[in-house]
Amino acid sequence: MKQKGIIFKGIGGNYYVHTKDGIYVCRARGLFRKDGITPLVGDYVVIDVISETKKEGYVMEIEKRKAELMRPHVANVEQVIITMAAAQPNPNFILLDKLIVLSINVGLEPIICFNKVEMDTDEMIDRVADIYAAAGYQVVLTSAKKGYGIETLREIMRDKINVFAGPSGVGKSSLINTLMPGMKLRTGEVSVKIKRGKHTTRHSELMPLDFGGFVLDTPGFSSLDLTMIDKSDLREFYREFDQADNCQFRDCHHINEPKCGVKLAVEEERISAMRYKSYCYLYEEISNRKERY
Ligand code: GDP
Ligand code: ZN
Repeated sequence: MKQKGIIFKGIGGNYYVHTKDGIYVCRARGLFRKDGITPLVGDYVVIDVISETKKEGYVMEIEKRKAELMRPHVANVEQVIITMAAAQPNPNFILLDKLIVLSINVGLEPIICFNKVEMDTDEMIDRVADIYAAAGYQVVLTSAKKGYGIETLREIMRDKINVFAGPSGVGKSSLINTLMPGMKLRTGEVSVKIKRGKHTTRHSELMPLDFGGFVLDTPGFSSLDLTMIDKSDLREFYREFDQADNCQFRDCHHINEPKCGVKLAVEEERISAMRYKSYCYLYEEISNRKERY
């Protein structure tokens, strides 16, 4: 009997496939092996059920991957919930913008989540949230502690494959626990470690959300370098720059060029000065790195 599903866990050549009829433990067998493709967590697959009672089968087909995240190595992730805290630790907006760039670059939709909002006493986060919303991003304000914004976050994550990103201590594990009270992840330990001989191998696993969809148990983007991005492409990742008037030069980088529509929009406060500053900062970072080679 054939069955469709998604691989949510893979250990030692066993693939755990989530289907409408429950979980099957499968070995790989299909034709895809000839192409050197091995099943990956996140793969949508067709399995051949060999035992319904033991819930065992073979992975026979792998659907074409829509995306492939390298670190952690997972297929078909759709959204990154980039999380910053309102305080403790204070938000790092350069890091936030870097994570947005990295997400878009690998084809994932960035969702910006400000957690610990009950600690935001001077409404700084409300103002910042407006800036990112105006720039064209979906923003959600949460408090895992107080339960604020959790329903909204569920709606955003529902029926999608999600990964959290952001510095440690911002509340990623707490949010996952609050989203699904049954999960009981230990805070501060999103990842699952499995001992294998001398080596400790980290296996990323998709956790099914009881309201639909999945969340990766490991935060994404452990590496934050922009190596893959060319400085002349950086502007593509700042969506709000589209709102600027035409620049005099068609390939304007919006840095030192005269008659730059983006700089004018920043002066007239149509584009946030904070975002423009982060653009210049990342542009500089990429330029310096390129010079070293
Ligand atoms: P992670 O490293 O991003 O997974 O962060 P954790 O989930 O481990 O949370 C770090 C600390 O922040 C823990 O002590 C949590 O109890 C605390 N925390 C998480 N969410 C909130 C929140 O909404 N408000 C407050 N005040 N503390 C929170
Ligand atoms: Zn320009």
